[in-house]
Amino acid sequence: APAAPSNFLRHIIENDLAQGTYASRRWGGSPGDGAHHQAGMADPARIRTRFPPEPNGYLHIGHAKSIWLNFELAREYGGVCHLRFDDTNPEKEEQEYVDSIREMVAWLGYDTELPDARAPESSACATPRMQAHEYFASNYFDFMYRAAEYLVTAGHAYVDEQTPEQMRAMRGDFGRPGTDSPFRGRTPEENLLRLRQMKNGELADGAAVLRAKIDMASPNINMRDPTLYRIRRATHHNTGDAWCIYPMYTFAHPIEDALEQITHSICTLEFEDQRPFYDWLMARLCEGGLLVAPPPRQHEFARLNVTHVITSKRKLRQLVEEGHVDGWDDPRMPTLAGLRRRGYTPEALKLFCERSGTTKTGGGWTEYAALEAALRDTLDPVAPRALAVLDPLALEITNWDSAMGAGHLEPCHAPVNPHDEAAGQRHFTFGKTLWIEREDFQAVPEKGYRRLFPPHVNASKQDIAGNKVRLKYGYVVQCTGFEQDANGQVTKVLAEVLPDTKSGTPGADSVKVKGVIGWVGAHDAVPAEFRLYERLFATEQPGAAENVTEELNPGSLQIASGFIEPGLQGAVPGASYQFERLGYFAADRKPGADGRVVFNRTSGLKDSWGK
Ligand code: ATP
Ligand code: MG
Ligand code: MG
Repeated sequence: APAAPSNFLRHIIENDLAQGTYASRRWGGSPGDGAHHQAGMADPARIRTRFPPEPNGYLHIGHAKSIWLNFELAREYGGVCHLRFDDTNPEKEEQEYVDSIREMVAWLGYDTELPDARAPESSACATPRMQAHEYFASNYFDFMYRAAEYLVTAGHAYVDEQTPEQMRAMRGDFGRPGTDSPFRGRTPEENLLRLRQMKNGELADGAAVLRAKIDMASPNINMRDPTLYRIRRATHHNTGDAWCIYPMYTFAHPIEDALEQITHSICTLEFEDQRPFYDWLMARLCEGGLLVAPPPRQHEFARLNVTHVITSKRKLRQLVEEGHVDGWDDPRMPTLAGLRRRGYTPEALKLFCERSGTTKTGGGWTEYAALEAALRDTLDPVAPRALAVLDPLALEITNWDSAMGAGHLEPCHAPVNPHDEAAGQRHFTFGKTLWIEREDFQAVPEKGYRRLFPPHVNASKQDIAGNKVRLKYGYVVQCTGFEQDANGQVTKVLAEVLPDTKSGTPGADSVKVKGVIGWVGAHDAVPAEFRLYERLFATEQPGAAENVTEELNPGSLQIASGFIEPGLQGAVPGASYQFERLGYFAADRKPGADGRVVFNRTSGLKDSWGK
């Protein structure tokens, strides 16, 4: 799928390619211990993008936008996209998140070295898969530290030993310039000594930080001598206890981009104010010969916001930890693991990302309905159809034995997908007792009701015959009555079959009916559990409430017990179906408690078969 036509980033990239902005960028000598990262990067005419998640949580739909954008731009312009684990913060990062991020990126169609992570159904996706080049920011710690020593030596950084409170107070505010730290005037020699003491574990956690020496009066607060390194004795998932100082994100990220020879560093608008520091740092390190010009450039786009969805990791964690949802992959969660379990496919998510547009200005919300529309548009041409009954009511054909023969089962068939003849036919049988939806029968029909109702006398004292409907792919039946229990609950609908009316036979059109209903045979249907999901948040733009639980939709999950047509007995976990008239459902990836097949409702249908 090409990037959206409105994508302003394409113009930037096309311009850079036309002008050969990066064509001259060759790593002359050795860029130090960054050198091995340049292996296989000898093609400077290509663009390089990256998706740089911090492995501190599960990916969500906002990340899908960033993944899609970076990988598809690289694909479109014959470039390369890096999956980079931005793992410079030792405290919050875990292998579990690295694994799940890798799995989800591969699921979306961008392979890393983990072919096993590929979901069986997505290997059939239409777009060719793309190789993700995998990197870890923590592999650059040596280079980052050397860059820090260089900045100190060149007079561009200093060790500050004020307390965090003092530093905050000295930073100033919007419209109020900051004040220079008393440590700002140290000589490079003094600073180098102190930096090495920081690195060698001679100073306590929090006792000092390394700061860039830029401008405490800058109107951009990010330029008021930002912190580059802090002391933190913590074991890192990759480097273990090798370091007791760790680089700050603002320092580490531009260096990561540069070492990987990223050309276009695409991020969300919150980072716009960081761009001057990004450029400052790149310029200093190029001057010092640590990096080769031209450095990567940062470009910001508006983050994806989806109505009725929250993507804050902190709030999502609260929902999981307090048990409001069934884990990170609960099908109501906006995590990619949740969306996948709900039945969203990579194709649907990518189409959604494309349609949501990529713009330079923020604040917009994309309708949740657009996500469902993308799902329907991608599944309609390919999803197998099936009949299912979510709220079963028995229908007995009282003349079956006399008209068709006792115990007779009539074979019926239906297209697997009406848009795709090659997909073939599905098979099931029609017999004396069937399951229909409870809502397809009304003992006293409302005005205009076209489905099953019994003979009765209406308000103007007319005798009305029991209604005739077609049981889809089967016969026309005429309702003759019903049975109910002591509470007036209907327990069985009675009807007679019109034997010459089978679908696909010459007699099919001999009787005109206004209603068509779904059914499954009581003799061959498979019991199933259906999880009927609604939106997790009741409010349109959730996130405003003090406590996120106030915004939850209490009816976001209903569980139904019913039946599916026999062919779905062996539904592959994760497989998507269109249950005719009911919506798109996916076989759950986790087995049901009682061994029944479980189907998660992904979305409803736009069209129904009428009243
Ligand atoms: P946090 O700041 O809570 O750690 P994050 O959302 O920034 O979380 P990262 O792992 O740092 O998570 O994100 C990786 C990439 O995904 C970043 O480039 C970020 O800009 C992008 N991203 C995150 N949320 C969205 C969103 N809603 N729309 C588009 N891109 C997003
Ligand atoms: Mg982040
Ligand atoms: Mg964030």
